[in-house]
Amino acid sequence: MIKTVGILGGGQLGRMLSMAAARLGLRTHIFEPLASPPAGDVAHRVFTAPYSDRETLEEFARSVDVITYEFENIPAEALDIIEVIRPVFPGRNALATSQDRIVEKRFLQSIGLAVAPYCEINSEADLIAALATIGVPAILKTRRFGYDGKGQVKITAATQAASAFAALEGAPAVLEGFVDFSREISIIAARNAQGDISCFDPGENTHRGGILHKTAVPASISHALQTDAILLAARILNALDYIGVMGVELFVTQSGLMINEIAPRVHNSGHWTQNACLIDQFEQHIRAVIGWPLGDGQRHSDAEMINLIGNDIEALAQHQNCAIHLYGKTEVKPGRKMGHVNMISPKSA
Ligand code: AMP
Repeated sequence: MIKTVGILGGGQLGRMLSMAAARLGLRTHIFEPLASPPAGDVAHRVFTAPYSDRETLEEFARSVDVITYEFENIPAEALDIIEVIRPVFPGRNALATSQDRIVEKRFLQSIGLAVAPYCEINSEADLIAALATIGVPAILKTRRFGYDGKGQVKITAATQAASAFAALEGAPAVLEGFVDFSREISIIAARNAQGDISCFDPGENTHRGGILHKTAVPASISHALQTDAILLAARILNALDYIGVMGVELFVTQSGLMINEIAPRVHNSGHWTQNACLIDQFEQHIRAVIGWPLGDGQRHSDAEMINLIGNDIEALAQHQNCAIHLYGKTEVKPGRKMGHVNMISPKSA
């Protein structure tokens, strides 16, 4: 029987996964290179070491029954070391697919899903040629390691090619055509080893400065589009033989849904489930990785989740009628996610 879940990464997602695991009577061990991680406060054990430390990785893996992760940038070499000792979910294929924007887009296209027009960029010459094909506006993104709008440059004129390429410091990149979307939505979906799938209702996302500001549920889209989003997420999970929770970010366009990106983990835009669903995304993920039946993902209320970023935390006193989730981070930095609040209201549709 599974008693201890190992989590790679000790940020807020690891913290909320640990709390969900504790509710299910489980312990968590965290592996995190940085000292005093937010998840450390609520986990049974913390291993502090770089991902290149074979000995500590092995000790961590042997100390748990199953391993999962809270972020997707785990070096492949670290995975090589731990996955021969304990199972890692979601599996290697999902991780490798989502670590590289080009591999991810090719995969999504191979299963018939729409993505923004894109070109692989390895040189300034590639970028000039790609801008001639894709046109402007466009977004240049690093293939790997981007998050919260980091590693991205918007290009509005072909003359900006040199400066945009220089801004990414030579990192392999992808140029994406700028999608004329009416809304951004995301869907949080789960699949377990038996192949059961459960999706939460799509949420509508608003960003500020490239960082998620708000998720509102239900999204103001038609039932047909909601169903499309659910079916599309299920197609991705099945194609990857996926185990765990995944976040799928989508653009709503005139010609239907287009996928922005997938994240092989619990997702910021799924935090609303903590207060508007009986079983939230964190419990759902733990259930999936320990081989339990999934919860059904139904929501009992409408919800709005608002991120508390940087100094937003000072505005907390205004929030009297909502659930407050703080991550225990001591140092406030601009753009740093310090917590979030969830507001719920009676279910509308
Ligand atoms: P990402 O890091 O790829 O999730 O991008 C962060 C945000 O930038 C997205 O949520 C969108 O608001 C915007 N964005 C990213 N890619 C595109 C695109 N191809 N077209 C329009 N907006 C985009």
